Amino acid sequence: MNKRIVIIGAGPTGLGAAYRLKELGYENWVIYEKDDYIGGLSSSFKDEKGFTWDIGGHVMFSNNQYFNNLVDHLIGADFISHERESWIRMNGRWIPYPFQNNIRYLPEDLTRQCLEGLISAQNDKRQISNFEDWIYKTFGEGIAKLFMIPYNMKVWKIPLNQMSYNWISERISIVSIERITKNITEELDDINWGPNNKFKFPLYGGTGGFFNKFSPFVKDKISHKKRLSCIDIDSRTVIFDDGGEDKYDILINTSPLDLFIRMVKSKKRDTAHLLEKAYHLKHSGVYVVGIGLNKKTEGTKCWVYFPDEDIPFYRMTYFSRYSPSNVPNGNTDVYSSLMCEVSFSEYKPMVETEVTGLTVNGLVKAGILSEGDRENIASTWLKKIDFAYPAPTLERDDSLREIQLFLENNQIYSRGRFGAWKYEIGNMDHSVMMGVEVVNRILCSEKENVWR
Ligand SMILES: Cc1cc2nc3c(=O)[nH]c(=O)nc-3n(C[C@H](O)[C@H](O)[C@H](O)COP(=O)(O)OP(=O)(O)OC[C@H]3O[C@@H](n4cnc5c(N)ncnc54)[C@H](O)[C@@H]3O)c2cc1C
Repeated sequence: MNKRIVIIGAGPTGLGAAYRLKELGYENWVIYEKDDYIGGLSSSFKDEKGFTWDIGGHVMFSNNQYFNNLVDHLIGADFISHERESWIRMNGRWIPYPFQNNIRYLPEDLTRQCLEGLISAQNDKRQISNFEDWIYKTFGEGIAKLFMIPYNMKVWKIPLNQMSYNWISERISIVSIERITKNITEELDDINWGPNNKFKFPLYGGTGGFFNKFSPFVKDKISHKKRLSCIDIDSRTVIFDDGGEDKYDILINTSPLDLFIRMVKSKKRDTAHLLEKAYHLKHSGVYVVGIGLNKKTEGTKCWVYFPDEDIPFYRMTYFSRYSPSNVPNGNTDVYSSLMCEVSFSEYKPMVETEVTGLTVNGLVKAGILSEGDRENIASTWLKKIDFAYPAPTLERDDSLREIQLFLENNQIYSRGRFGAWKYEIGNMDHSVMMGVEVVNRILCSEKENVWR
């Protein structure tokens, strides 16, 4: 076949698709990107003082062989392997992650409350119809009210009773009463759960350092500063906000699906029902706040979760621990860096000008920084990400089914974190593989595994 394939977006999904097209020796394709860099949400930035920042704490882990081979091929030995050490900071107390596995770190009365809640949840006869119900039924009142509900509200900023619970498997540790009781009575630290308990981080250039390695594979095919603004599905034309346009036979979209649907135009086909479906796709955004410090930070923690309402961020990463090159001149004896994530949504907006100040105050309040450390702040960096978390809402799957079917009937494949709008397959490896596999499907009639 020699059909023209047009890719929208040079984030991990678009780059995965591009890499695979090159690998298969296919020539008739192009990629359009609205920004002047590649990597999308997985790119990194160096601030004026020389600190490198990711768009929130990114760690690289995967059980996909193709992806792991690609990482080896592109960065070779230029990465650092880490063992995850993550914690919860709550009400002045440190609790190892996952919270529910380590409730013995709570004051005795709260540990008892959590355990009693877990036991009575076994007899909870409620029908589970949303994420909030699932939390109560799985963990009981104690763990729900102390951690699960406040923490998840902070991340999603979407009412939890409007979210589904079918995305959870690899995202939340579910433990038995027997195991929790054993952890309490034998004073065990139960900290190894989860697919990201070991992870890689690029030695140079942050997470974006890895995605920049895709440059040679796209350099003669990519056009930057091209923001898609309209898709005429009758004439198979993409139109950009600078007035430029291009024809496609097959379109791979990786931009946010709800916005994409609003750009679809047709005189022959009715698209009104798609707009209504797209309205049900909800998301939250994130402010990433980087705090560069003129001081060495001791310790081995990787990141910390914050469920308390009076701390504005839900997560903080000790970013200078991931690689020395995240600080000026790679000098971690003199510099360190903390990266905080503050979420917002249509339900709970934030005032941008207040975010950095609130974050610094939050770090002091939580005991991560001392009052005196305010003078050690060498740099602050703020990035607003409007599309950060695609929410698994109750209506999502129904909307996606209808939208994706319509698009595929029109030779459009929408993939990636916001292209597919599925948080459960929204990591970097999933995204790269969605790009690779959609090309395998288009050119080799192979089945897609990550996206179904
Ligand atoms: C806070 C946070 C933390 C994360 N942590 C991890 C982690 O620890 N590990 C992990 O594996 N993953 C993590 N991720 C997920 C990771 O960032 C995504 O999997 C990945 O970046 C998604 O790739 P993508 O190509 O699908 O989308 P994106 O990265 O969003 O790329 C889409 C691209 O499309 C472009 N685009 C958008 N609209 C248009 C338009 N109209 N016209 C032209 N171009 C357009 C964008 O500029 C962008 O380059 C995290 C994400 C966030 C937000």
